[in-house]
Amino acid sequence: MAAERQITLIGAGLAGALLARLLALRGWQVEVYEKRGDPRIAGYQGGRSINLALAERGRHPLRLADADEAVMAQAVMMRGRMVHPLHGEVNLQRYGRDDSEVIWSVHRGELNITLLDLAEQAGARLYFNRRLDHVDFERRIARFVDDRDQRSFDVPFRALIGSDGAGSTLRGAIGKVLDLGERVDFLDHGYKELEIPPTPDGGFRMEPNALHIWPRGNYMCIALPNDEKTFTVTLFMPNLGGATVQNPGFDTIRTSQQARAFFERDFPDTLPLIPELERDWARNPASTLATLHLERWHLDRRALVIGDAAHAMVPFHGQGMNCAFEDCAALAAHLDAHADLADAFAAFEAERKPNARAIQQMALENYLEMRDRVDDADYRLQRELELHLQQRHPGVFVPHYAMVSFMRVPYSVALARSEIQHGILVRATRGKESLDQVDWTAVDADVAAHLTPLADVP
Ligand SMILES: Cc1cc2nc3c(=O)[nH]c(=O)nc-3n(C[C@H](O)[C@H](O)[C@H](O)COP(=O)(O)OP(=O)(O)OC[C@H]3O[C@@H](n4cnc5c(N)ncnc54)[C@H](O)[C@@H]3O)c2cc1C
Repeated sequence: MAAERQITLIGAGLAGALLARLLALRGWQVEVYEKRGDPRIAGYQGGRSINLALAERGRHPLRLADADEAVMAQAVMMRGRMVHPLHGEVNLQRYGRDDSEVIWSVHRGELNITLLDLAEQAGARLYFNRRLDHVDFERRIARFVDDRDQRSFDVPFRALIGSDGAGSTLRGAIGKVLDLGERVDFLDHGYKELEIPPTPDGGFRMEPNALHIWPRGNYMCIALPNDEKTFTVTLFMPNLGGATVQNPGFDTIRTSQQARAFFERDFPDTLPLIPELERDWARNPASTLATLHLERWHLDRRALVIGDAAHAMVPFHGQGMNCAFEDCAALAAHLDAHADLADAFAAFEAERKPNARAIQQMALENYLEMRDRVDDADYRLQRELELHLQQRHPGVFVPHYAMVSFMRVPYSVALARSEIQHGILVRATRGKESLDQVDWTAVDADVAAHLTPLADVP
């Protein structure tokens, strides 16, 4: 029995650390190999997206792992979007009805370290400075390399789980023996991170309990709070700009001086908040964004990919980690339910693939909403109506954002219902300027004709 419940994880990032904890708690012998050094000794070297939005569907697996309390001790509540128009008043658009419907900003490094500690406490064995280099699936030997001195280590395995992120080496290794049907769609926009430090007396420089957005049509800045009173600002923008200054891109804003001029024109209220704009601009690279489509996620009973390694997505719904955490809980349940790993992996893939596809699509769609729609009058009217219909048809008309962020209904269900609801909102508000003009009888009939009650996953 003991030999059967052995598993080797590649990557001790967010999904790898949580899965290690979940499986170790269930009595599995878990070994985790991570290419970087131990962040608890060497300091965290994540290198990207310093903080992340954690939502209910990410918190549920943390609760199953008895990790929610430790994680939430470092989290900052975000009640809604604080929209900073170029001209006009800053305004808060609440995500939900009250403070029970919020999302949380968590620091990637702190979160990773918390989960690593908990994985180890549950009995998982963690090996750092071990980069997966090569897999011999016939002999079931994985070769790891220590990049500090190029020593290599051959490790026998029963099954490999690839939680090694978007550029997964395990996925590449499986791809050599099985056609995974892999396609990567690069977004023509990228991102760069900047920092808002604390005030001189150690406070936040803006409202902390919000996700700040500066929508500017084809590009935007966002800022998420960190518990050490900083904000991480992310500028999303086309990689290639146009010929005029009205169409900036990372290729046209090359110097720190050009960056300052760009911020003076488009994000003037951020300038006093980002004292080291020039330094951050020069130091932090512009990174690419992509969606990974994979037809197959596992090689019989020998290997499986999860998290970003299976379904990397653009970050505009703040769901990549949440989805990866859901993967961990789903995989743990399928491993409990199936004696044969091949059956568990197949059942996991069948459950998670349609949901990953749905959130990948919603994440792409949300970029347009964030950078261009949030300060449009018709968008705001639709949002107002959405909240009204939520009260008028409780449990039937559930806003899109609530389904994705405050509930655990499968992403595929959230997508299908969101598309229906969007149609209802568009029909009801077409040509209207305020809710007073809405034909409530027609809207109620539309809701009754197209929506059934929605129950959350218990
Ligand atoms: C700008 C940006 C903002 C984001 N914001 C959010 C957000 O607000 N909310 C949200 O839910 N998600 C967000 N995401 C997505 C989130 O970062 C990912 O979905 C999440 O990190 C996936 O976790 P993972 O464990 O699958 O991969 P990762 O976190 O990337 O971990 C992979 C691990 O594998 C290790 N590794 C890689 N290769 C090897 C190898 N060959 N051998 C051994 N180890 C290896 C890496 O060092 C790393 O530790 C954002 C992403 C970006 C880019």
